[in-house]
Amino acid sequence: MRSVKSMIIWGLMCTLLSGAKLTVNTWERGELFSQYLERKEISFNIHSAIDEEDVKYLSEIQAGEVFYELRDSEDEIEQVLIPIGEEMQIHLAKDKISHKFVFDIIPIAYKEKEYSATVVIHSNPHSDIKKTLHYPALADKMSQLLKGVINTRRLHRGDTLSFIYKQKTRMGRPYYMPYIKVAMLKSRGKESFVYADEDGYGYSNDTTSQAYIVKGKEKITYTRRVKVKGKKYRFGMPLRHARITSSFSYRRYHPILKRYRPHHGTDFGARRGTPLLAVNAGRVIFSGRMGGYGKVVKIKHKGGYVSLYAHQSRIRVKRGQLVKKGQIIGHVGSTGRSTGPHLHFGMTKNGRWINPMKVLHKKSDTRTILKTFTKYKETTTTKYKTVVIKDAKKNKEALLAYLKGKNEPFIWDRFKKLEVRIDDDL
Ligand SMILES: [Zn+2]
Repeated sequence: MRSVKSMIIWGLMCTLLSGAKLTVNTWERGELFSQYLERKEISFNIHSAIDEEDVKYLSEIQAGEVFYELRDSEDEIEQVLIPIGEEMQIHLAKDKISHKFVFDIIPIAYKEKEYSATVVIHSNPHSDIKKTLHYPALADKMSQLLKGVINTRRLHRGDTLSFIYKQKTRMGRPYYMPYIKVAMLKSRGKESFVYADEDGYGYSNDTTSQAYIVKGKEKITYTRRVKVKGKKYRFGMPLRHARITSSFSYRRYHPILKRYRPHHGTDFGARRGTPLLAVNAGRVIFSGRMGGYGKVVKIKHKGGYVSLYAHQSRIRVKRGQLVKKGQIIGHVGSTGRSTGPHLHFGMTKNGRWINPMKVLHKKSDTRTILKTFTKYKETTTTKYKTVVIKDAKKNKEALLAYLKGKNEPFIWDRFKKLEVRIDDDL
């Protein structure tokens, strides 16, 4: 690559020595590469001469991009250099024999140098840099550097601003933005330094705090109402369609005996043969006839409960048998002392009669309790760490060394000319 570059430079210089000139142009907004060729009457067939891989670069020429045309003594274009990005450029060169243009993409030859300057403040750094150094982009970069660090409105006439900056140049013209490394403001005898980070923003210390994100987990406990199967309510209904015809009572009038008697159970009206269901899992402790109750099944459940199903027409379980909740254990009938087919359902807890309706529930699960839960949440926390600005101390020393000497600042006025001299800046 280097040899190619040297050859081009050599070629340019030879041509220039023979009375050629180099013109500086800016790429027109919206102009296509093919339009440019047409306008300049450059005989060139894009599709046949440009490698398929390189065609895409033709649309990467930016509007306002500075490019160069090299013309011979008869004002005919010999070479064209159009940048595509910061590092590469399109190179068109006329073949001396065939007079056809050859297309190539080559590295841009640029120089990078360090400059230093001291500017005396008359109004503000921006306008004073523009006036004395003739370089608006440098003034803009100084404003960026000082922003938030130095209150430029509080500066006094006669204060001085010294700084070191880097600048790329191409054929004697500034190429891309300058980068101010460090600046020193001398205001009424007091010196203050401004250090630049990699993006050109300024800091009054040679360290800066940098934000970073820490990801973590946060433990969160919360309570929520949840449904629970209460022990008290673990019994289902003994019939699929329960219709109460007589409620539990410790004392009620008996229509057949015509006297007061307790009614230790709940009567459910149902047709003869309707299946009877175990209200819960348990073991059959009685299966057979039992006086006025007629055909009876008794099931022992957990928690000291016993359920009783009386007046059955037909029993379906045997004593000692284990039954599941909802299992058919017999059928509705009217055996024993009964006025008609119905289920007399009784229940005891620890040997005492209880009202079955206090423990039987149509829905198996209605109670709720407050329960505590724990979960982990992803968290992002912004933390700050102290970062030493790269080369801050080195740049400060370089600036102090510069201030000891008597160096004239470089004035950027040469690039105002449309025609430039080819010199060692190429
Ligand atoms: Zn009854």
